[in-house]
Amino acid sequence: MRKKIIAGNWKMNKNFEEGMALVSEVSNMVKDEYSGSAEVVFIPPFIHINAVGRMISDAKNLFVGAQNCSNHASGAYTGETSASMLKSCGVSYVIVGHSERRQYFNESNDWLAKKVDAVLANDLNPIYCCGETLEERESNQHFDVLKKQISEGLFHLDEAGMRKVVIAYEPVWAIGTGKTASTEQAQEIHAFIRNLISEKYNHETAQSITIQYGGSVKADNAAELFAAPDIDGALVGGAALQSRSFTDIIKAMK
Ligand code: PEP
Repeated sequence: MRKKIIAGNWKMNKNFEEGMALVSEVSNMVKDEYSGSAEVVFIPPFIHINAVGRMISDAKNLFVGAQNCSNHASGAYTGETSASMLKSCGVSYVIVGHSERRQYFNESNDWLAKKVDAVLANDLNPIYCCGETLEERESNQHFDVLKKQISEGLFHLDEAGMRKVVIAYEPVWAIGTGKTASTEQAQEIHAFIRNLISEKYNHETAQSITIQYGGSVKADNAAELFAAPDIDGALVGGAALQSRSFTDIIKAMK
């Protein structure tokens, strides 16, 4: 069965005390109230990663992730953080190509392909984000945009590498806007992505890959999204910043 993953991307939010309180509350609620099978991933700012990793080290379904990493292994790249540094602090997952990185930091598919390589070279799992803008959807370009993002960012990988990738479909028009893609819209794209992988690699590889949905996921829309056959969890932004809303989303995944 495919892995189900609920990941909370804190973006640039939470000071140290706030972040530790959130992890403590969510961990306690997950331990006491969650009997489902999903992996839960906290994705805090870099500076909190080590502390979060220590807090959750003995919980088998809790993990820590990073929001970004360098495509270089080491060296004179002021302000950057390498995948091997992340690994040494307990990270399991690294977001690559979040739409905010694509938009505000001009990260191209080719550039992101190098980050995917750096993550995999350190035996970590990339969460590779893709998604169309509102303009692209309204002009019916979304399938082409997604195909380009997926093929240019990921299809240089061999099958073993591809099987370690998690994909997050995040329509840009749904991120932080309160507008969620309908379950039908999300399912259609997830099936499309899985089919692209099947055509490039094979059916088994396509079936093995976790594809998360992201974009204004909340407790009240999570269960319906998670019931769709190709939606394997969520990458959550705003609703991951409060313990109750995040745990309610986690509990929606059986
Ligand atoms: C995100 O940042 O990846 C995200 C999906 O944000 P939100 O849940 O706030 O839309």
